[in-house]
Amino acid sequence: MGGFFGTISKGACVTDLFYGTDYNSHLGTRRGGMATYDKEEGFMRSIHNLENSYFRTKFEAQLGKFKGNAGVGIISDTDAQPIVINSHLGKFAIVTVAKINNINELEQELLAANMHFSELSSGKTNQTELVALLITQGKDFVEGIENVYEKIKGSCSMLLLTEDGIIVARDKWGRTPIVIGKKEGAFAATSESSSLPNLDYEIEKYVGPGEIIRLRADGMEQMRKPQEGMQICSFLWVYYGFPVSCYEGKNVEEVRFMSGFKMGQKDDSEVDCACGIPDSGVGMALGYAEGKGVPYHRAIAKYTPTWPRSFTPANQEMRSLVAKMKLIPNRAMLEGKRILFCDDSIVRGTQLRDNVKILYDYGAKEVHMRIACPPLIYACPFIGFTSSKSPLELITRRIIKELEGDENKNLEKYAQTDSPEYKKMVGIIAERFGLSSLKFNTLETLVEAIGLPKCKVCTHCFDGSSHY
Ligand code: SF4
Repeated sequence: MGGFFGTISKGACVTDLFYGTDYNSHLGTRRGGMATYDKEEGFMRSIHNLENSYFRTKFEAQLGKFKGNAGVGIISDTDAQPIVINSHLGKFAIVTVAKINNINELEQELLAANMHFSELSSGKTNQTELVALLITQGKDFVEGIENVYEKIKGSCSMLLLTEDGIIVARDKWGRTPIVIGKKEGAFAATSESSSLPNLDYEIEKYVGPGEIIRLRADGMEQMRKPQEGMQICSFLWVYYGFPVSCYEGKNVEEVRFMSGFKMGQKDDSEVDCACGIPDSGVGMALGYAEGKGVPYHRAIAKYTPTWPRSFTPANQEMRSLVAKMKLIPNRAMLEGKRILFCDDSIVRGTQLRDNVKILYDYGAKEVHMRIACPPLIYACPFIGFTSSKSPLELITRRIIKELEGDENKNLEKYAQTDSPEYKKMVGIIAERFGLSSLKFNTLETLVEAIGLPKCKVCTHCFDGSSHY
């Protein structure tokens, strides 16, 4: 997905920019970048590959070269950013959290209009550069950003560092979030509100879907009103988000806790304790334990000193190996126990298979699994979750293919909790992984735990409900 941070201040911005951007590191693994603007020296930019290192390690030595009171930074899962561009709108640097499904079509359109791309990497068009070019087609920044909203299929939130402040523009449907923080003499805008407390910013505003705001050191100016409709990604709360973060005022850890609490309250399983698969399963397991009235135990622990991030690396095989190496089972807490594990989701199932085997190898008597969200039936076309080229990467679709002879058949039936098809599919997953029992939260429970109306939340990967 990716995450960004921008700040504008009456004083130097670099320290806040550096740490604020770093606090988005759990959202991406590929590239990190920063750009600053100084009245005397203009724009400064630096981009590093993060595939074998961390943002702070890569940028620390360079901090002295960044000057000025405004800057933007990005942790990107896709292209190299920020892009710095000179145009009829003036010079600006741009960072995006985006997924553009019709990039080839838009690229052809821009080339046909005599525009050019200069930031190709591995022969591919840089999607942030494409967004920048779409913006420069407008007569002003607002019209240019509206051009992006109209033309792209997917999603795009962005920060523009201009010669007159930072322009903050959230995706038209609000699939990805932006929050604005404020402190004496400074404003910040970021994907994750967890970037704010340690830099002394208070949450000032959740930017609305399609809303555009200009930040200057002494205030904010609304340039475009938000639209009524919103489709914020529900997976932010389930999986992506850092526990301390809030989106639309709803805290990640609280949502995870409530999703577990509600499930625990109505679950008739007989277990000795509840455990969470670190990190995103822990909040749910704490809630489950309280709702069910069983103790919470740490029967599996994450080795954090050298494996702090959850997404590394980009390659699936290595990712599975890293995921396995990060989690260490604790025989003392597992032996002879009926254990219930909570996890955020089941995507391909490869990780789950390994985890369950290890738990039995280390003496667990029964292994029950509870999942924070419903089964993932549809690939995500909006933010790049599952990075699926084919829906067959999803374990649900592979099972549907086995049962129906076609992975696209009767999907609505499989997506409906407790339908015969749903029960069969869940039963097969449980059997394949050797689970004593397996339950997924219902969509209603997940939406209730989030606390927003269903129509404001994207749940497409569970029920196929969003169309574009
Ligand atoms: S399809 Fe799923 S992962 Fe994608 S934006 Fe919607 S809820 Fe989020």
